[in-house]
Amino acid sequence: LPVLAVVGRPNVGKSTLVNRIIGRREAVVEDKPGVTRDRVTYEAEWAGRRFKVVDTGGWEQDVLGIDASVAAQAEYAIEACDAVVFVVDAKVGATDTDEAVVRLLRKAGKPVVLCANKVDGQSGESDAASLWSLGLGYPHPVSSLHGRGTGDMLDAVLEALPEAPEQRFGTVVGGPRRIALIGRPNVGKSSLLNKVAKEDRVVVNEMAGTTRDPVDELIQLGGVTWKFIDTAGIRKKVHLQQGADYYASLRTAAAVEKAEVAVILIDTTEQISVQDQRIITMAVEAGRAIVIAYNKWDNLDEERRYYLEREIETEMQQVAWAPRVNVSALTGRHMEKLVPAIETALAGWETRIPTGRLNAFLGEVVAAHPHPVRGGKQPRILFGTQAGSKPPRFVLFASGFLEHGYRRFIERRLREEFGFEGTPIHISVRVRE
Ligand code: GDP
Repeated sequence: LPVLAVVGRPNVGKSTLVNRIIGRREAVVEDKPGVTRDRVTYEAEWAGRRFKVVDTGGWEQDVLGIDASVAAQAEYAIEACDAVVFVVDAKVGATDTDEAVVRLLRKAGKPVVLCANKVDGQSGESDAASLWSLGLGYPHPVSSLHGRGTGDMLDAVLEALPEAPEQRFGTVVGGPRRIALIGRPNVGKSSLLNKVAKEDRVVVNEMAGTTRDPVDELIQLGGVTWKFIDTAGIRKKVHLQQGADYYASLRTAAAVEKAEVAVILIDTTEQISVQDQRIITMAVEAGRAIVIAYNKWDNLDEERRYYLEREIETEMQQVAWAPRVNVSALTGRHMEKLVPAIETALAGWETRIPTGRLNAFLGEVVAAHPHPVRGGKQPRILFGTQAGSKPPRFVLFASGFLEHGYRRFIERRLREEFGFEGTPIHISVRVRE
């Protein structure tokens, strides 16, 4: 989906606006220093079109000075988004900080929709009009608090956003496959990128049908050209003390959103951490094909290796189905295994099971392992169909509620039968009375 960033100084009302856009009342999180959140992107829909909204407002510095915080947001927006809503407080008018952001936005050349927020009363109209001076075109008068003007502004946003690939090409998307290389800081992302890029640097003239984002890079691996997403974010170390994690997670979320497959790096010389898990969850929830690369394998001693395998068993459960490669970005160990793993994951991700075959399989499974009897009744799976792929999505029609454990069992059997290596799968159950 196309990505929209909401950018602006602290307290101009970004979070309130984001809540309006995503159609929710609850506050995402207050703009408070040091607040980090797991989720930074939200799905929204307007006039039948879906897009992602990135809330850049979750972190506010208190040491580095306002400019650093705002610059980081703007920089992020510049590099990772398709369009920007720039929020200005119409009651305050354009500040120097706002002007500085405008310069950054202009340099980026991404479409910008100017939101003159806090236009609550009649007098607000003229406040909004004064923001023409920013040179970003029409200042849309909005009251995020009351919802006024947001519809018109969203119409403008839709015009600025590119259409989602699915909407443009049907289900087939052309161009190189898209890889996001993700992992917490210092796992070796940029080392790995440099290693693979060195093998075969592509000098590409514009490829037909692909729009090239300057932050994405085309790299040839195993005779195939791949698009690595947001390599600028990988190569460049972001020099922000506070909030660096937050911005790293913004970037990760945006890269995952654009990618088809996520290669998740784990630093084997350190304990698998909550931060690793969060990144994994992000990729799983986004429904991406996943490969796990255990990096720094050159640096493992016997003892660490022993504990690592235990950690993998317990901590990596949620992606037990993902292909695993043990690599060293330093020595190049097992780099040749990366592409086959990625291809395996993509194949699983794209799998489609014909309805006849699926139901023959379900029939056997249900006959051999019926759902336990509950309250004198036995829920049965009547029929199933694959509703979609990338990742595979199944709908099961059942005669009663299926317990969680039974759903897990069905998922496990589906994986045993059909593979689905490297892909999350979704199963939803509809009960027919
Ligand atoms: P990034 O933050 O994920 O991009 O991580 P970097 O690529 O900057 O790597 C962080 C540190 O780990 C650097 O000092 C690298 O030299 C080191 N490193 C990366 N990959 C390996 C590896 O496979 N083996 C060893 N021993 N060190 C590595």
